[in-house]
Amino acid sequence: MADQTTRAFVVEHLDPELGPWSALEYAAIARESHDRGARFLLSSVPAELQMPADLAATRGLEVEQRSVEEIFADRKDRVCLLDPSAKVELSPEDGDTFDVFLFGGILGDDPPRDRTSELRKKGYVGRRLGPKQMTTDTAVRVTRMVVHEKVPLEEIPYVDYPEILINEHERTEMPFRYVKDANNEPIMPDGMVDLIKNDADKGVGDLF
Ligand code: SAM
Repeated sequence: MADQTTRAFVVEHLDPELGPWSALEYAAIARESHDRGARFLLSSVPAELQMPADLAATRGLEVEQRSVEEIFADRKDRVCLLDPSAKVELSPEDGDTFDVFLFGGILGDDPPRDRTSELRKKGYVGRRLGPKQMTTDTAVRVTRMVVHEKVPLEEIPYVDYPEILINEHERTEMPFRYVKDANNEPIMPDGMVDLIKNDADKGVGDLF
């Protein structure tokens, strides 16, 4: 049975670049995993990719050029792919069945393009986190709450499609599900709201 010291969350980076949105998400996952004693691996990072400095300096980040298949070749049956198309929802018991929880390092898109299929093709057992698309850091947060804190998926408080106030005239809707904090606000990575506001001129669709 996996405890939090052997449990690993792995994000397989699937985009050719690593932009500011992904950097904030990955930094949030690294910090939260580290503070709770879990490993966070960012895998399949191309050797030539220039890691953003803030991300590279984040506590808890393990960068791997190898793919998840190579790293965990000896225990494929202990790897669970978090897959929006899986037929079975993640449950607290999955924390005993699997040690490695695998996520697509893909920016969310609307409508979703199912790029998680690139990992599904590799044959991992899949679990779903409910019917709505989450950002990658939210998906890791929810998985940790289910498998480590043993909170059933349906008891986690969520905020769906929150609006961000850009200025007094403009607001933008985020097409994702987030975990709700104690103040009823969606949990987002540090710096994300400012990034969204600063880039609002480009149209938020360009960011995902
Ligand atoms: N639009 C995407 C796609 O093309 O598959 C979803 C990307 S989502 C932003 C990034 C990752 O978070 C997914 O690859 C998956 O591992 C995880 N994820 C997000 N929402 C999920 C859900 N409802 N169930 C299971 N996994 C989810």
